[in-house]
Amino acid sequence: MRERFTRFMMGRYGTDEFSKFLLGAAVVLMVLNLFLRFGLLNTLVLVLLIYVYFRMFSRNVQKRYQENMKYLQIKGRITSFFQKEKRMAGDRKVNHIYKCPNCKQKIRVPRGKGKICITCPKCRTEFTKKS
Ligand SMILES: [Zn+2]
Repeated sequence: MRERFTRFMMGRYGTDEFSKFLLGAAVVLMVLNLFLRFGLLNTLVLVLLIYVYFRMFSRNVQKRYQENMKYLQIKGRITSFFQKEKRMAGDRKVNHIYKCPNCKQKIRVPRGKGKICITCPKCRTEFTKKS
C-alpha cells in the first residue's frame, strides 16, 4: 500500500509551505464555522481542501513551485511589516517623534527629559519641546 502510494506520488508535487498554510487556514475556518455555522464558509473550506489536494497531486511541479515562492514572498513582506510596526510601537514608549518646524524632518527624542532644546540634524533649526 505504502509502495503504491510512493509510486503514485512519483513526479507529483507533494506538499510545501503554501499547502501547509492553506490546510491551516481550512482547519481554522472549519473550527470557526462550528460557532458561526455559515454555509458559505463550508464551501470555502471544501474549495481550499480540493485546491490543496490538487496542488499535492499536480504534475506541473514548476508552476506549483512558483506559487510557493510567491506565497513565501508575500508572507515575508507581511511578517517584516508587522515586525517593523512592533518595533516602532516599542520605540514610541521610549522616544517621542517631533517634526522640525522648518523642514519637517522627523526627529526622535527620548521621553521624560522635561523641556529640551532640539537641533534639527538636517537644517540646524533649533526649537524647544517638552519630551
Ligand atoms: Zn529641519
